[in-house]
Amino acid sequence: MLRLTDIKLPLDHDEHALEQAVLSKLNIDKGRLISFDLFKRGYDARNNKDIQFIYTLDVEVRDQAALLAQFSDDQSVRVTPDMRYQFVAQAPSELSHRPVVVGLGPCGLFAALILAQMGFKPIVLERGKAVRERTKDTFGFWRKQPLNPESNVQFGEGGAGTFSDGKLYSQVKDRKHYGRKVLHEFVAAGAPEEIMYVSKPHIGTFKLVSMVEKMREQILSLGGEIRFSTRVEKLDLDRQNDGYQIKGLHLSGGGYLACRQVILALGHSARDTFAALYEQGVYMEAKPFSIGFRIEHEQSMIDRCRFGDNAGNPILGAADYKLVHHCKNGRSVYSFCMCPGGTVVAAASEPGRVVTNGMSQYSRHERNANSAIVVGITPEQDYPGHPLAGIELQRRLEELAFHAGGENYHAPAQLIGDFLAGKPSTELGEVKPSYTPGVTLTDLSKVVPDYVTQAIREAIPAFERQIKGFAKADGLLTGVETRTSSPVCIKRGEDYQSVNVRGLYPAGEGAGYAGGIWSAGIDGIRVAEALALAFGES
Ligand code: FAD
Repeated sequence: MLRLTDIKLPLDHDEHALEQAVLSKLNIDKGRLISFDLFKRGYDARNNKDIQFIYTLDVEVRDQAALLAQFSDDQSVRVTPDMRYQFVAQAPSELSHRPVVVGLGPCGLFAALILAQMGFKPIVLERGKAVRERTKDTFGFWRKQPLNPESNVQFGEGGAGTFSDGKLYSQVKDRKHYGRKVLHEFVAAGAPEEIMYVSKPHIGTFKLVSMVEKMREQILSLGGEIRFSTRVEKLDLDRQNDGYQIKGLHLSGGGYLACRQVILALGHSARDTFAALYEQGVYMEAKPFSIGFRIEHEQSMIDRCRFGDNAGNPILGAADYKLVHHCKNGRSVYSFCMCPGGTVVAAASEPGRVVTNGMSQYSRHERNANSAIVVGITPEQDYPGHPLAGIELQRRLEELAFHAGGENYHAPAQLIGDFLAGKPSTELGEVKPSYTPGVTLTDLSKVVPDYVTQAIREAIPAFERQIKGFAKADGLLTGVETRTSSPVCIKRGEDYQSVNVRGLYPAGEGAGYAGGIWSAGIDGIRVAEALALAFGES
């Protein structure tokens, strides 16, 4: 097979144009072409009057070697790499012990699935509930029912990304093509086939719920075990010369589980667990993350700006954007987790705190576009002195947001025009807030440090130069966005084990090794493989 990249065709090309493009690219006649498959499809909308599809195709031809020689200087014609997933190990028929996975977010889900597929019969511990039950609690909170600190947007089967836009891309390096395995498993669990080939795949929240259930069934059918409402409270450690060896887990409700290998896929919101691990001496460091607000505009405005007359074309769907601005005060402001045609969601997991995030359905048909507009912060500059200081900063800001919102889980919000002018908002404009349980109009500069206000005030007009209407006065900012990534990194070595606890495999977003659903899934596979390869040694 040959892989042809960078095949450009106009948006409205007909069904025969792809074949024609292959023939002319390779300069061959039809008789020499056996077949071709779509590997990737993206688009270039920089000139919205002439939007182009960009294809990557896998092509089977007669006498491939001669063609390859002919195109030896052309990087866009290469042999198709073998991207099929190969298991690195197979469990022995008699297991000396069972590996444990803590957390059933995308990282834990893929770690457990791969271990189960290799025959290791993992035991999975998840503090939250099974996904259907969890959905009731989460949607209940959005409809003004009390927050359940163990069952919410952050905690429960499926992890933090279950109620999300389900974007499945990131910039992680993936030399071993684990990302394809993640996509294959998602499709097998019910995701749309197109996630295999569109350049920015997304699933939307409702599909994710049933996919997570299917993946759980597979883990169980392969001999795995899943215990919901089971929180790991602390580790049982054996002191050794140069650190510790894990020998068990203390669980909520007084339970105990003896174990020798544990994948710790906690996510970025397990603040109590980070504190317990720190107290026990598990090595961790503070890491950079970002803080700011959610911004909402009408999706139709974003579509018009990005796609011009092609706005509304179903093949393009709702438009997204990605923006960065480097400020005079040395800070960088960027858009993050953009949700086209989606809603802003209440993402708190602790009482008395307000946090925003975003989600969409697969259709992305809601009225508003939203994204986080956040400022990068670092331990050295902004929360020095303690590995958990980033968590304390997050908590402080979330409490300020809770008070500014009226202490009833409404989120503080402000019109963009008022924010830029430095005056509190009193009345909504055309952009209606999508956040439930509701918003309280106020002055958002009260809930973030001054440098964040300053930086975002500079960035929004700069973004207006890229997206006309971005700084429109009645666009809406809602606060506060603090859970952009983990504020800590639980350090691991080249063998993927904690640098000072043998048998402990910190993984996924919470440990600082992933950012997003897809990369968390990839990290889950990596760590499951490392554990399987070390199985006999432990
Ligand atoms: P998590 O998904 O956070 O999973 C960790 C799990 O561990 C949780 O289920 C938690 O209950 C459990 N846990 C924690 N502590 C314990 C304990 N002590 N004992 C037992 N269990 C424990 N990313 C994208 O790529 N695309 C998106 O569109 C997107 N949208 C998002 C929208 C929202 C609203 C949110 C909140 C996040 C979104 N993200 C998105 C981010 C994405 O969800 C995370 O990057 C991803 O879920 C991280 O995966 P993880 O498995 O490492 O951790």
